[in-house]
Amino acid sequence: MKDYDNALHMMEVQGGSFVKALANCYYMADTPNKTKLRETFAEYFNNYEARFAALTGERKPRFENVYCSACGCEFGPGDHGFSHCEHHANLKGER
Ligand SMILES: [Zn+2]
Repeated sequence: MKDYDNALHMMEVQGGSFVKALANCYYMADTPNKTKLRETFAEYFNNYEARFAALTGERKPRFENVYCSACGCEFGPGDHGFSHCEHHANLKGER
């Protein structure tokens, strides 16, 4: 069985040509455009996120988005935020 990093990765690998393009587009987008893409094509994102969650048996994280209070980066869904940058040294955040 193939392993996927996340729902977007699944979209790239399993999706049809439109879904593949959408995933690529999402990678290129900045935060406001990501929000637009997500809202406009919510059914695709939700569909692949559900598939990915089913695949990994992942439970829903407590927060939709977690932050680092030191640098202000956001890390997407998670159970807790970070108070020091050392705690997210292996994660790539977004400002
Ligand atoms: Zn930080």
